[in-house]
Amino acid sequence: MTTDMVPDSAALSTLTLTLKEWLSPHSLRLWFRDEPRIEFRSGQFMQVVLPHDNPDDRGIRRFFTIASSPTEEGIAIITKVPEPCSSFKRALVALEPGGTLAVTSLRGSFVLPERLNAPCAFLAAGIGITPFRSMVKYMIDTGRHCPATLLYGEWCLEEFLCRGVFQKAQETIGLRPVYTITGPDVPPDWTGRTGFISPEMIIEEIPDYRERLFFVCGPPMATKSMETILHDLGVPRDRIHRDYFPGY
Ligand SMILES: Cc1cc2nc3c(=O)[nH]c(=O)nc-3n(C[C@H](O)[C@H](O)[C@H](O)COP(=O)(O)OP(=O)(O)OC[C@H]3O[C@@H](n4cnc5c(N)ncnc54)[C@H](O)[C@@H]3O)c2cc1C
Repeated sequence: MTTDMVPDSAALSTLTLTLKEWLSPHSLRLWFRDEPRIEFRSGQFMQVVLPHDNPDDRGIRRFFTIASSPTEEGIAIITKVPEPCSSFKRALVALEPGGTLAVTSLRGSFVLPERLNAPCAFLAAGIGITPFRSMVKYMIDTGRHCPATLLYGEWCLEEFLCRGVFQKAQETIGLRPVYTITGPDVPPDWTGRTGFISPEMIIEEIPDYRERLFFVCGPPMATKSMETILHDLGVPRDRIHRDYFPGY
């Protein structure tokens, strides 16, 4: 039996699409009803199966972080749809309300600590923002929060995701979101940062970085680079949690 042939009975839950929305020209958010309900912690990820015609070599399964918070109704995923894209992403884009995915596993230790007693820093590159959307929404909804700075890099202005939630968190729980455009197209009135997350940027934006618990997420190379920067700045390994999204 290949890994693409897990029987339906192995599914933990069935996700039924309720809403599909483009958050940016290349970023899609899908909301699902989960039956049975998935018990998860913010930051965890699941494996989903989407059978479709003529799958390419990448197959019919993917891991996705749950971008919604356990405090919300339903399950959301957010994904990039590049050009060209895989047959899986094409099938996901074509999914209509009522269409289903099977969830075959739920995992991950990239989660907020039970007791939020240390200040945190969230470093996100591109699609690596998904776990932080869940964590920040959870902190807003429960009122359980700690001092936190979000440093979030995207190639261009239109691709920044979920800014509404981060703004709400700024107003209600004191999150400090810092956005950096990493590509060449920087609008003349841009008041955020530019360039990749660097040691200088961390020192300037998170001056108490030695006391912080870091969460780092993004595509593999960006995650590795941010982790190396933190090591070089002397942040102990046990204060750096990281998750990376292979495949991009
Ligand atoms: C723990 C974990 C959590 C994750 N969470 C998320 C998440 O929250 N959101 C998310 O989006 N992903 C997440 N991922 C990654 C996800 O599982 C996929 O690997 C990723 O989305 C890439 O999907 P894809 O293989 O369908 O490729 P695509 O996204 O379609 O493409 C990826 C790259 O390959 C190129 N490519 C694809 N097909 C072709 C082709 N036929 N010809 C030429 N080039 C091609 C594209 O142009 C692009 O550069 C996670 C992975 C892990 C392990």
